[in-house]
Amino acid sequence: MVRESPMLRLLKKILATLCLIASAGLVGLCGSSPVSAQALRINHPLCHAVSEEVAPWNVAPSTFACIGQPERYQRGTLWLQAMIPPKAYDRDDLSLIVHSSRFDRLIVAFFYADGAVERQAVRSGDFGTHWRAGGQLAFRAPQRDASLTKVTLRFDKVASARLLRMRLVGRGEEGTQTTGLATLIGAALVLLLSGALYNASLALAVRRQFSAWQAAWAASMLAWGTCWSQLHLFFFPAMAGALSAQICTGLSCLAIALATLSAITALEQVHVSVYLRRTALGLTGCVFALGLPLSLMRSGPIESLGAVLAMLVLANLLSVAFSIGQAWRRGSREARSFAGAWAVPMLVLGSTSFFDADTMFWGGGSQILVLFAAAWQTLWLSVAASRTYARLRVERDIARQAEAQAQELARRDALTGLPNRRGFIERAGSILNISRGRGDVVALLLIDVDWFKSINDVYGHEAGDLVLQGIACCLAPHESPFSATARLGGEEFAVLVAGMGDVELMRFAEALRHEISSYDHGDVIGHRKVTASIGITRSTIAADFHSLYRVADEALYEAKRGGRDRVAIQLMDAPDRYSDLGEVALKC
Ligand code: GH3
Ligand code: MG
Ligand code: MG
Repeated sequence: MVRESPMLRLLKKILATLCLIASAGLVGLCGSSPVSAQALRINHPLCHAVSEEVAPWNVAPSTFACIGQPERYQRGTLWLQAMIPPKAYDRDDLSLIVHSSRFDRLIVAFFYADGAVERQAVRSGDFGTHWRAGGQLAFRAPQRDASLTKVTLRFDKVASARLLRMRLVGRGEEGTQTTGLATLIGAALVLLLSGALYNASLALAVRRQFSAWQAAWAASMLAWGTCWSQLHLFFFPAMAGALSAQICTGLSCLAIALATLSAITALEQVHVSVYLRRTALGLTGCVFALGLPLSLMRSGPIESLGAVLAMLVLANLLSVAFSIGQAWRRGSREARSFAGAWAVPMLVLGSTSFFDADTMFWGGGSQILVLFAAAWQTLWLSVAASRTYARLRVERDIARQAEAQAQELARRDALTGLPNRRGFIERAGSILNISRGRGDVVALLLIDVDWFKSINDVYGHEAGDLVLQGIACCLAPHESPFSATARLGGEEFAVLVAGMGDVELMRFAEALRHEISSYDHGDVIGHRKVTASIGITRSTIAADFHSLYRVADEALYEAKRGGRDRVAIQLMDAPDRYSDLGEVALKC
């Protein structure tokens, strides 16, 4: 069971709250239908006229067609006209909202009953004060005593008439809708920015390819959202119009490619068939291959190529959805995280294919849905990535703990629990170093049990083991920051002490010998006494462990020769002799 970090819990709470707010907001938006709003579409009620060449600005067509689709307008001028019957709207302060598209120039003319005409114009690269968040342009009909009779729109070099979207709304509603939409877009962009930064920092911290793709994807969606909503015009007003629309198409293709790559790299190779993986990547390539030239096109078969691109995008997303489904069936943990993240965008794309959302959501249309779906996706995946990394951290901590335990065990003697030779040499090395710096005397006591073989012979090997454990009990309390104890092997033990003078050292060794000989081994060997001989050496010079060991061993030999159950001390000679021997011993 993975324990969730407080950060993760907080992130989850924020996500849940945002989802609630977003769903409540979207439900509210879906339901809102302003009384005076009307979508204007070609033939419903817009009539059209075309000039194959760009017409002089003051030329107006004499007749308008109200059936059929306009043609051959991409290099010329397209006029659209909507008649406004008296009292058709419940208010007369109307605004015309145009979803900005690819064109060179747009002139909106409001005609009044008294014969007055009010014109407002924008051109690619200069939307003036007409641009609004959510990729829209607003043209307010100036208020006059006479009522509005018709509205005409004149587009020069518009890329696609079918992709044009317009609405007539009350001016108050225009303000509310554009402010509301700007707030929604701002919220979605902030979420995407947070997702991009969070995933980028995760990618840097843990060096995971998936987080890097995820960060790149969130960043590309952020760029697309900024570009589509026209918020970039605050800083780069000259990008208004066709250039922004072209960049948006390119960015959306890039975002789809990055989303596919992030999903495909996160799913382990064993969980997704090569066929599905290649299909998803191949379709991404096709989306890119078609999307990039399409983003550069200003005229030509933009509508039909756009439809092909939409199909390719859908197929691409479906192939990723199938990959996720297959990986889930094969037990991939990542697939479950992705399923939650991809379900919402897939639902959004699916639903926008069945109903026309272009003028819904305060004019944000399907794009605002895509933006929120992307924000949802990046948040969901950020939480999923945090969970994965939290689990990996716990697993890493357990592994480190196990490794530390193994290291500790490798330095301990299994029978007595005292440090073994390896652990003792390491401890002795650090005590020697510290003592050298402080100018302290270091003494090594080698302790060898007397006639131990006979204990084994008389009472058995197991009894011998218990005796060894008893002796370890005498030595263990002498383990401290300035002393180390060990069972070096067999029935040989050692104590290294620092900072003791000669007299204190002899007293300590005698006390230890006495402690060992008076230790009660209970029923193990009856009343038999177990004694030990101790050989000591001490050094104030820069001696290493091996030099000390050799001299202490000579002292021990002396104690044995002297009759056992005694302490013998031997001082070190000049250091040269022992450092030479030390070299030999190390080579052996
Ligand atoms: P001395 O007084 O000269 O040291 O005689 P000793 O019998 O103590 O020395 P010797 O080297 O002849 O015998 C040591 C014995 O210790 C031999 C070996 O079987 C026994 N021994 C070594 N390791 C263990 C162990 O882990 N458990 C037991 N029970 N015996 C051990
Ligand atoms: Mg021995
Ligand atoms: Mg012995």
